[in-house]
Amino acid sequence: MSDFEMMDCLIIGSGPAGYTAAIYAARADMKPVMYQGLQPGGQLTTTNEVENFPGYPEGVTGPEMMLQLEAQAKRFDTDVRSGFITKVDFSGDVHKCWADDGTEIHAQTVIISTGASAKYLGLESEQHYLQIGGGVSACAVCDGFFYRGQETVIVGAGDSACEEAHYLSKLCTKVTMLVRRDEFRASKIMEERVKGTDNIEILFNTETEEVLGDGNGVTGVRVRNNKSGEINEIPCTGFFVAIGHKPNTDIFKDYIHLDETGYILYEEPGTSKTNVPGVFVAGDAADKTYRQAVTAAGTGCIAALDAERYLAAKGH
Ligand code: NDP
Repeated sequence: MSDFEMMDCLIIGSGPAGYTAAIYAARADMKPVMYQGLQPGGQLTTTNEVENFPGYPEGVTGPEMMLQLEAQAKRFDTDVRSGFITKVDFSGDVHKCWADDGTEIHAQTVIISTGASAKYLGLESEQHYLQIGGGVSACAVCDGFFYRGQETVIVGAGDSACEEAHYLSKLCTKVTMLVRRDEFRASKIMEERVKGTDNIEILFNTETEEVLGDGNGVTGVRVRNNKSGEINEIPCTGFFVAIGHKPNTDIFKDYIHLDETGYILYEEPGTSKTNVPGVFVAGDAADKTYRQAVTAAGTGCIAALDAERYLAAKGH
């Protein structure tokens, strides 16, 4: 018996990108094996209600949707494994990967769908309300709707924070933006847009001390001006964190071309190809702009089709 496992298609990561790739790869008889990763189901499992994925007129919870995607992938015999890939070697024709249980894999094709993780402030109160779905979110497009007609606070000063603050301003009565320095990081046009929006209040030099609540839901935020030391409480029901994302691509960095913030670069725009032949990418690991479940699913399909064509060209 060989001490490694050979396969045609290894899928790393189990968000909408990974599962969609699995459904397509399995139906193309590529016998995909998926390693689910540290957060099975990916970022959607931290979202309460998904109302913008086509095909769910009544909405669906994030965890429920991921279970359905998993069931669909398994229906076509995807080998879904709990566990994660710890190391890769993409220097040869066959792509070597190692799982956390020590399994050595030799894959003809690899689809990277490891996603990205939203950064949070790390406050205990923030994590509490995030985990119970009680008013903390890192995605205004996903969750803003639930705060219609209410007051929200958003942290961050980059393009994401500006875009999300603007999005929230159309739904909420008031949006307070907490900027830790005395200036924005965002592009001028985005900065001007939030500054020109009547119901967005910008507080510079302001940091979050505590997310306040009644145990079940957010009721406000305690903030501190880092110049004057002044403490204030801002009432709100939604607390949005938009301080950046970290793509989960560290293990690939020695082989795969990444941009300066760690996102995987497409070798050929309009495809899922990376710089390594036979290694494809789908979802947020290569997307810092759209980051939606449906766009991730779309690129998962592209990756599986590209992998299938790659295998066919090699005579598999
Ligand atoms: P960025 O890294 O650009 O910005 C992060 C922001 O969060 C910064 O203002 C930073 O403050 C702030 N921040 C970081 N940590 C903390 C903290 N602990 N407390 C308070 N504030 C904090 O991330 P984005 O997600 O905004 O953007 C990522 C990339 O995606 C950028 O290249 C951006 O241009 C791009 N993008 C483009 C869009 C578009 O063109 N439509 C839309 C969204 C993103 P500080 O400035 O002080 O460091």
